[in-house]
Amino acid sequence: LHVTDALSAGGSVMLPDDQAHYLRHVLRLQPGEAVALFNGRDGEFRAVIAEAGKKGVRLDLAAQLRPQPASTADVWLCFAPIKQGRIEMIVEKATELDAGRLLPVITRRTQMQKVNAERLAAHAREAAEQCERLDVPEVAPAVTLEKLLQDWPQDRQLFLCAERSDAPSLLAAAKGRGPCALLVGPEGGFAPEELDRLAALSQVVTVSLGPRILRAETAAIAALAILQSVRQN
Ligand code: SAM
Repeated sequence: LHVTDALSAGGSVMLPDDQAHYLRHVLRLQPGEAVALFNGRDGEFRAVIAEAGKKGVRLDLAAQLRPQPASTADVWLCFAPIKQGRIEMIVEKATELDAGRLLPVITRRTQMQKVNAERLAAHAREAAEQCERLDVPEVAPAVTLEKLLQDWPQDRQLFLCAERSDAPSLLAAAKGRGPCALLVGPEGGFAPEELDRLAALSQVVTVSLGPRILRAETAAIAALAILQSVRQN
């Protein structure tokens, strides 16, 4: 379970109501039984249910099970929001594939203009718990493409995923080190002026993910899988 409290052997944690409910009524765990807790900073701890009553669920922390791993490759995923169901899939799979930060980006042809970042963050937490990842990627508030590019960090490469391009494959372009990010467009693709704006930025490298026109979520998953296999910090 992901918690926000600091974790150390001998300490204890009171669970918020939703997690207390999950532990007692979904997992049906009883006092004396154990779960694993992580908070993204202190590693993973074995925690024994000490109290489960009206006052809530208290867990006593026992031994550390895993130390916090050194961070994996520093990869962000910038993606145009797509419709409900499929956007959650992007968040879930990006968490499994070790994206460090998820940035919804409103482009000219983006149809979903509103993003519930809190709901997506909850999906990221659940996905991290499920895949035993010991940190949860941040879901940033949605910004326009223009704003994203205005503030783009000088030292972070941005791989623009572009269909129907004679650009090099991501596999070839991504070898190397250092911070990077992927940019995946909406169902309607990027507008020509957006592609021009992107091409003017020195950090942008246009890449292809093969000959087919992939749906946005497929493109995000395929690109992250490629980066995960070739990229190290
Ligand atoms: N409407 C566009 C078209 O038909 O040309 C297709 C957009 S596609 C469904 C959504 C996004 O996925 C694109 O903006 C791009 O970022 C990414 N994408 C899809 N296929 C790709 C490919 N073969 N190579 C690189 N990126 C791709």
